[in-house]
Amino acid sequence: MKYPWHQAELLRLLASRDTMHHALLIEGQPGIGKQDFALATAAALLCEAPGADGRACGECLACGWFREGSHPDFRWVRPDANDPNFEARKDRKPSRQIRIEQIRAIAGFVNIGTHRAGRKIILIEPAEAMNPVAANALLKTLEEPAGDTVFLLVCGHPDALPATVRSRCRRLALATPQAAPAARWVADQAGIDIDTAAGWITAAAGAPLHALRLAEPTGAAAHRDVLATLAGIPDIEVVEAAARLLQFDADTWIPVVRAWVTDLARVLGGAPPRFLPGEHARLEALATRTRLDRVLRLEADIAATVVASEQSLNQRLLAEGVLLRCCEAFEP
Ligand SMILES: [Zn+2]
Repeated sequence: MKYPWHQAELLRLLASRDTMHHALLIEGQPGIGKQDFALATAAALLCEAPGADGRACGECLACGWFREGSHPDFRWVRPDANDPNFEARKDRKPSRQIRIEQIRAIAGFVNIGTHRAGRKIILIEPAEAMNPVAANALLKTLEEPAGDTVFLLVCGHPDALPATVRSRCRRLALATPQAAPAARWVADQAGIDIDTAAGWITAAAGAPLHALRLAEPTGAAAHRDVLATLAGIPDIEVVEAAARLLQFDADTWIPVVRAWVTDLARVLGGAPPRFLPGEHARLEALATRTRLDRVLRLEADIAATVVASEQSLNQRLLAEGVLLRCCEAFEP
């Protein structure tokens, strides 16, 4: 396990491995290491000589296969766009969705026996990337679990999953680590001082992996650039401003926009900014040009857009849509 803060939760889960539910919904804030937790769980369940604490030994044949991505009883279902082994073809762009063909292939896998007489593990990540047809197909498989198959669904936005899928899973909520140890971890990893690291933890809403990206030179520059673009709202040329955001991937610019909107709402409500203390003066100036109810609506709108965007390919429309909504919150 790469990240120390979910260790206790992992050990608790593995202690009950014999009575483990056949479908776990591993949820939590983006950027806290849910994928790492799911992989450590899968490795432990597949390991043929687990330690006394239940974790994978890292040395047996099964652990070796798992590390190489070739364990015959493990399937990792993810959008093509997230799969480093996906070979892009001229006629097909990598999809950001989990498609029904991928879920159908899982049904076949569930119905055959295990290769190693242990468990079969299916990791679906992110689960909210399943389109509705795919989610519906998964439902049938979840309803009739075959023997020792365990489903690990990793999800940053559980509300975006159909309730029928959620209700068939045991929900396991991973906590965001506390700010002080998270900052220490970022400081160690990035080789920066603790105060700077604490600032990035604040900017990342406590998510250490996002904070680490921000702490790297390119991440810091991107954060500055996105804030500079937002500083022009509402008097911006939306198409041009969107083009500036699109220099970065959505995972970089969207959290900055959300932090900015949330902090604008806080300033309107008389509180100091939570994520962007350096923007206090600019946010106060903007606050005189809008109202709290409009900004709260904007915040909800953007959250909904972001969830929808998990399945969308068109990044330009996404950026333009978000900026347009921001500007509209200031219209008289
Ligand atoms: Zn092992």
